[in-house]
Amino acid sequence: MKFVSTRDNSKKVSAAEAIVAGLAPDGGLFTPEYIPAFEEGKIKELCRMGYEERAAEIMGMYLTDFTKDELLDCAAKAYGSGRFPKGEPAPVKKLKDNAYILELWHGPTCAFKDMALQILPHLLTASLKKVGEKKTVCILVATSGDTGKAALEGFRDVAGTKILVFYPNNGVSAVQKLQMTSQKGENVGVCAINGNFDDAQTAVKNIFSDRAFAEKAAKSNIFFSSANSINWGRLVPQIVYYVSAYCDLINSGEITEGEEINVTVPTGNFGNILAAYFAKKMRIPIKTLICASNSNNVLTDFFNKDGYYNADRKFFTTISPSMDILISSNLERLLYYINDCDDRKTAGLMQKLKTDRSYKIEGDAAKAVSKEFFAGCLNDADTKKVINNLFCESKYLCDTHTAVAVGVYEDYVKNTGDATKTIIASTANPYKFVASVLDALGEKAADNEIEAIDKLEQVTGTKAPAPIAALKEAKERFDGVCNREDILAVTERMMGIK
Ligand SMILES: *Cc1c(COP(=O)(O)O)cnc(C)c1O
Repeated sequence: MKFVSTRDNSKKVSAAEAIVAGLAPDGGLFTPEYIPAFEEGKIKELCRMGYEERAAEIMGMYLTDFTKDELLDCAAKAYGSGRFPKGEPAPVKKLKDNAYILELWHGPTCAFKDMALQILPHLLTASLKKVGEKKTVCILVATSGDTGKAALEGFRDVAGTKILVFYPNNGVSAVQKLQMTSQKGENVGVCAINGNFDDAQTAVKNIFSDRAFAEKAAKSNIFFSSANSINWGRLVPQIVYYVSAYCDLINSGEITEGEEINVTVPTGNFGNILAAYFAKKMRIPIKTLICASNSNNVLTDFFNKDGYYNADRKFFTTISPSMDILISSNLERLLYYINDCDDRKTAGLMQKLKTDRSYKIEGDAAKAVSKEFFAGCLNDADTKKVINNLFCESKYLCDTHTAVAVGVYEDYVKNTGDATKTIIASTANPYKFVASVLDALGEKAADNEIEAIDKLEQVTGTKAPAPIAALKEAKERFDGVCNREDILAVTERMMGIK
């Protein structure tokens, strides 16, 4: 299997090369030249395996330059060494009627990003060896909150790597912020950036395409790569849990093999739901992909207005900050496939997005998106109602992002009457967004969000996960703030580039 850029598929690279580079040199995203499919009987086989083996099998269909043993080793290091619940990194729980929750937040930072970022450093280190790269890799991350911490934990003290995280100064929760600014490790750096997530993402993307800066860094024996979901090594482990959840539902007798399901995903950068799209194209029988957004509903409009994407709109800071995004980077990969792998078309649309902040897809591609996806959005007030209702009725406490997904799923059922069993991706532990969750339950949050952790425990009788409880004693280590234009200088200073 080779990988191509969504904007120029004439040059093909190996999986290892794609993972090492992160972003393609032309600014496009590396993506598999075609989407592989499960052979007859493969799902049955996967049903008999544990999570790590499933991961190695599924990733192996894309990472064909890795041996099965290498992939098993990466999966065991990520999911089997005590950082996730043993044997069950991503449990599926029945919520009500036809709805099942896929809990993706049992990793060390309590958000779904751990599912990919605990394995990416191992995939990347193996890839560096394969391509013979000896320079230190500097991982640059723009984060809407959860990626940053998950990447820091994944890469901390990994030999041959450094990691630098930029987060929007006023765009993350107090828990998210302290999780990042208190990060331990010798090879880590964290800096706030004045602006929102899109500003941070654009600034970081600009570093990747800055040739002169890359040459300068190379003199200090450093090169840059990405741990954002633009990196294929982030996306491929995410396909695994949708396939694995389907197998789990078969194994527990909730569905029969071949039965169709829906998948609902709370969406920001379009990475997580794109992984579900890949699972579908690999022949997991997914009927509808339900794309759930908060008030930054650019994707809702895109799917409901026949492929008209318009990022020229008001930006909202919401209680689901990891979805406060107007430029959903991974949509580019979807555009590429629904336009029959037409790289020039994709490049053209992305150019329009850059110059006009909008574009419109046409013809069969527009029809394809409206057929395969249902899209909806929820404002903050309705999101809080969902949290409250779920806790009162089902005693299930969910975070703000998951609540957006549950609310949009409920709207979908109301709209369509569809009784197909549905997996709802739960992307964060509720304690990660403790102030908003308390508020949703009608409780006044303490002035200090960190103190609110105790209060949520008392009010709900639930327990904060250990990494969040530990924040009560955490000390801030990184207090830097910079402007978008200073990002190069900050990167130089923090990475020791001369
Ligand atoms: C990152 C994140 C999302 C959005 O995922 P995308 O892959 O960017 O669409 C949703 N919820 C939480 C809690 C997240 O951290």
